[in-house]
Amino acid sequence: MQLTILGCHSATPRISAHQTSQVLEIKNHVFLIDCGEGTQVQLRKYKVKFNRIKHIFISHLHGDHYFGLVGLVSTFRLLTRETDLHIYGPKGLEEVITLQMKLGGSWTNFKLIFHELTSKESKLIYEDDTVEVHTIPLKHRVYTNGFLFKEKTGERMLDMDAILDDNIHTAYYRKLKQGADIINEDGVLVKNKDVTIAPSKPKSYAFCSDTVYTESIVPLIKDVDLLYHESTFLEKHEKNAFPTKHCTAKQAASIAKKAHAKQLVLGHFSTRYDDLSEFITEAQEVFEPVDIAAAGKVFKV
Ligand SMILES: [Zn+2]
Repeated sequence: MQLTILGCHSATPRISAHQTSQVLEIKNHVFLIDCGEGTQVQLRKYKVKFNRIKHIFISHLHGDHYFGLVGLVSTFRLLTRETDLHIYGPKGLEEVITLQMKLGGSWTNFKLIFHELTSKESKLIYEDDTVEVHTIPLKHRVYTNGFLFKEKTGERMLDMDAILDDNIHTAYYRKLKQGADIINEDGVLVKNKDVTIAPSKPKSYAFCSDTVYTESIVPLIKDVDLLYHESTFLEKHEKNAFPTKHCTAKQAASIAKKAHAKQLVLGHFSTRYDDLSEFITEAQEVFEPVDIAAAGKVFKV
């Protein structure tokens, strides 16, 4: 599983401060999470293939999280995309995107499928054989969701040396991957555990931006491998956090600690800060394994 940060600043875009957007590669999926202004340029810069993006998740309708979406959809159209595009986001997103397309006299040559999110409770919004995606209801000035991406437990892996030693026909490989014991070519019972290897532990990633400090998310993100949590402010500006429904670095660290996250990534920095290293210093007073997001930075799990 690999997370690439495309942008991690709040408010207004600047030359070196791109707005929220990230790409999660998980089990052959390329999921785009939020789509701030300029996201398509960042996708090109970090060489993410446009046609591999089939699902886009939008947390909320503040501009720094989705003003790049209509531009990206329009570019997909110009590139003669044919693949369906699924967009998950708050009620109203479909209306605003389709209105912009309509007023421009254009429409997509691919299927644009909106999945409207309205629930204030966590919901399973995407699932296939390998992954599932759940919403993480957040507390912000407008209706907002974070997203929890979870791998499913994979099939057992074949130990080819053991399989060849045990004279097992290839027709049984499928059953072995599914955990069954089988009879080999010599009519002997072969125990599954002797010829297969347990799959690696499923990984998880939680994206939590934007939100005021809320412990209500802790049970939803318990034991997550990688947590991205917004930290718009440093402690010296804590008085700004609650009224704007944002967090400080220390508050984000507190959530990571309570959730037993394995690693925390801070982001959504206010553009008032030039030196972001203070975010790490403040967070590490509470939670040690912390890093800061930066455009182009890759986190592997
Ligand atoms: Zn916001």
